[in-house]
Amino acid sequence: MALNDKCLFCRIVSGDIPAKKAYEDDDVVAFHDINPQAPVHVLVIPRRHIASLDELTDGDAMTAGMMVVRAAKIARGLHLESDGYRFIINMGEAAGQTVFHIHAHILGGRAFGWPPG
Ligand code: AMP
Ligand code: ZN
Repeated sequence: MALNDKCLFCRIVSGDIPAKKAYEDDDVVAFHDINPQAPVHVLVIPRRHIASLDELTDGDAMTAGMMVVRAAKIARGLHLESDGYRFIINMGEAAGQTVFHIHAHILGGRAFGWPPG
């Protein structure tokens, strides 16, 4: 699906809803989380609407790959790579997914426990 006007993150992609953008290109948009869980908390989303990790098909390999590759580039741009950072995709309600447009969290600027809560 291209854009879904009922989807919060599609509306951020289209500019309908404002966000503090950290990065954007033809494939992905990254913006600062409205409720940050770390000193740096950026969400990376594909421009194309895909609801969740579970919805991915082989045809989405390029989109999903771009989300990962660009996230690493964005994290480097935020100087997170030397200390390290957490990279998370929540899938489904039990894992805490609240927005059903696939997104990766980049969390940095503090230490993280393992296993996650
Ligand atoms: P998840 O819980 O993995 O689905 O992550 C959704 C994230 O989106 C949460 O961390 C929210 O704080 C964040 N969020 C929700 N609405 C907005 C918004 N308008 N702008 C930026 N981040 C948002
Ligand atoms: Zn969407």
